[in-house]
Amino acid sequence: MRAPRNIVLRTWYGAEAAVDIRDRAWHRAGFRGFLLLHPPLFNWLLRRGLPFVVYRKLGVLHEFGHLQAAPAVLVYLLAGLWSLQRLGMLNPLNGALFLLGSHLLWELAAETYVRWRTGAYYPQAYRNVSLWPRRLFFSGNAFLFVGSWAAVIWRG
Ligand SMILES: [Zn+2]
Repeated sequence: MRAPRNIVLRTWYGAEAAVDIRDRAWHRAGFRGFLLLHPPLFNWLLRRGLPFVVYRKLGVLHEFGHLQAAPAVLVYLLAGLWSLQRLGMLNPLNGALFLLGSHLLWELAAETYVRWRTGAYYPQAYRNVSLWPRRLFFSGNAFLFVGSWAAVIWRG
């Protein structure tokens, strides 16, 4: 049986978000009529060893988590860029480091949303799967997020 195409969910801010995951190679997510196609790099890492039905369920929630967190990330982005500009620290490299760190923070927020939404299902889904990909995701993203800020501050 073929999986349904778009899964439509309503965000906390009232927008209709849509997620389309048909395989492990490409995902589409966005708002109705405007879905971005992208390679699921972090889902590839996080869902290693899971059957596709579980991969898809957690992947849909991860993509939806991005859309749920988008307003907070946008505020963070604008505040960070405004602060860097005010401090005279906004240049192409610092801006790129800040954007990279912001994306990693967005990834952490999306997967934290998955963990929160799935409750006890999350550890059950992973009970026979290595913990290392998730350790690498959470600790690596957190380390690089903090590192991106440290690099920006160190560079001045
Ligand atoms: Zn993601």
